[in-house]
Amino acid sequence: MAAERFDALVVEEEAPGSFTRRIKSRSIDELPPGELLVKVRYSSLNYKDALSALGRPGVTKNYPHTPGIDAAGEVVSCSDGAFKSGEKVIVTGYDLGMNTPGGYGQYIRVPSAWGVRLPEGLSLKESMAIGTAGLTAGLSLQKLVQAGVRPEHGEILVTGATGGVGSVAVTLLAQAGYQVVAVTGKARETEFLTGLGARQVLNRDAFLQNSDRPLLKERWAGVIDVVGGPMLAAAIKSTGYGGVVTCCGLAGSAELPLNVFPFILRGVSLLGVDSAQAPSTVRNEVWQRLAGDWKPQRILEQVQEVPLAQLEQKFDAILKGELRGRTVVNLA
Ligand code: NDP
Repeated sequence: MAAERFDALVVEEEAPGSFTRRIKSRSIDELPPGELLVKVRYSSLNYKDALSALGRPGVTKNYPHTPGIDAAGEVVSCSDGAFKSGEKVIVTGYDLGMNTPGGYGQYIRVPSAWGVRLPEGLSLKESMAIGTAGLTAGLSLQKLVQAGVRPEHGEILVTGATGGVGSVAVTLLAQAGYQVVAVTGKARETEFLTGLGARQVLNRDAFLQNSDRPLLKERWAGVIDVVGGPMLAAAIKSTGYGGVVTCCGLAGSAELPLNVFPFILRGVSLLGVDSAQAPSTVRNEVWQRLAGDWKPQRILEQVQEVPLAQLEQKFDAILKGELRGRTVVNLA
């Protein structure tokens, strides 16, 4: 019997450095080996997906390729018995969508260790509205909490606040009772950010003004940064004594123009956050919180849904930092 065929977004390098994207029919036989075969219902759009889809260096080495670092759907089969057929699962991170065909195809086949049982309290669509961006925001909050940062310690700064990670971070922090200050390059989105729970919204250019001084006035008890570069440096320099800063992204820059003063004079800590290789115990724990007391209702209410065919216009926009909140991809 012929293997089932399905639709997938396929990125091809037609000439060196020139990439095209088309929806193509693929066969399940073409998927790599793995214990877990999933019928994907939803995926989502993350910064890394756009890098892969546009052929930017650092994410995908070999083309043709199907991006999509997030996928949620039903188990078709699982050869090692880790999941039952029909069970709902989430697969995010690891190599999915990087060099393993990802969630922009209607089927994925991956190691069963990459799967997370859909937690009670979330639908498949909601899990993708959260997606890698939301998981990363959750991991960042978890780091702050574990480092002892509590709401009564003072204000928490979130950079890149209207983006995927930032908007979920603002929501999670505000729901947990923290005083959130959001910094954004989009003045027009002030109402969106206060709607998610930000107490104050700062303009990115104003925030960066005079920030090249060795130390800045102490303000933050904690920071969730997604931007890197001068923004992260300014955030660290304005973190108060004993404060904690998490760093997960490079939407602005991969550089960190900084001196050691915040660390050696104020005891500031800088903690790295990675969602792709996060151990399954940590991943499961954060997903359980995101489905329960951390469930980011305001993000879920405002998520945008697009079919695979309409993703094209979003890739450039996310890399330019123009998108707001989260975008779910419907694979139906
Ligand atoms: P988005 O594009 O959705 O959000 C990034 C936001 O950063 C933008 O919306 C914008 O927000 C701000 N921004 C963009 N460009 C600049 C700039 N030049 N200077 C300052 N601010 C800028 O991306 P995601 O939220 O999906 O991802 C954010 C970052 O986190 C990416 O670098 C991504 O690779 C990384 N990431 C890392 C993960 C990990 O496991 N470590 C997992 C997920 C993401 P505003 O206009 O509000 O300022």
